[in-house]
Amino acid sequence: MKFVETHNHLTGWSPDAKQTFEELESISIERGLHGFAISDHHDLDVFSTEKNLWEVDVPSYVETYYDRRRMPSKRNAGDKPGFLLSLEFGWTPDNGAQLRELDEQYPFDYTIVAVHFYDGLDPYFHREEIYTESFGEFYPRIIDMIEQSARELSCSRIVAHYDFFSRYAPLVKSKMLYRHAPDSFDRLFRTMRANEQILEINTGTISALIRHKGYTLEEAMPDPEVLNRYREFGGRFLTVASDAHRVEQNGRYVMETIAYLNSLGFEEFAWFEERKLHFSRIVL
Ligand SMILES: [Zn+2]
Ligand SMILES: [Zn+2]
Repeated sequence: MKFVETHNHLTGWSPDAKQTFEELESISIERGLHGFAISDHHDLDVFSTEKNLWEVDVPSYVETYYDRRRMPSKRNAGDKPGFLLSLEFGWTPDNGAQLRELDEQYPFDYTIVAVHFYDGLDPYFHREEIYTESFGEFYPRIIDMIEQSARELSCSRIVAHYDFFSRYAPLVKSKMLYRHAPDSFDRLFRTMRANEQILEINTGTISALIRHKGYTLEEAMPDPEVLNRYREFGGRFLTVASDAHRVEQNGRYVMETIAYLNSLGFEEFAWFEERKLHFSRIVL
């Protein structure tokens, strides 16, 4: 199966990451991947009083990795996995224009749009302040923000971890469901369809739901209603991402997730090379 990991972080570029490029590459070879990408955090407006460690020095990032790229589609038998250059944009209501400019200015294979903050608050550090409402009230706000981020960053080809906020809620059963936010999900998928954006299934959420929330692997899989709805709105492709920050996170639950998505009728996963869509069939 020609699988490409579209979302990973490196030490030195993302403050919460602990793997080097060489480690990521060697585990990608070991896993027999068709390709892998780096997509470090670029979150502007974080902790504005001190130096923002969450902001990538984009010119040096591109200079360091651009020439190491190898397109998965040009790969011959026996070659190393392909390598793609991406960036994970941390969108906030204030930074859309700035991020769009960066996307235009630099030759990424693709960028990923992500929402990591709610009202300027980090869900990991500010649980008590953030999770004050029922999921039926709170999750629509989150999905609406993701919709806005996808709309403002229509240039970003992948929409990251729609269920990121389900990882940190203090209540045990916090998995995000379609029925928590049906209208918001519909709006999001309509926007993504118009922009030809791909939904990411981030296995970091699956891992968090299992480790911290008491879900079984089967229960931790993304809500089938969310995914069916995505497909009803024309979403044919998905990307499955380990979002590895450490070596041992590479490949976590990836095969199980691919099998699950296939059981729901998804037959291909996608990635982007020089901003062009590529896809490959799921073969189990
Ligand atoms: Zn993220
Ligand atoms: Zn990430």
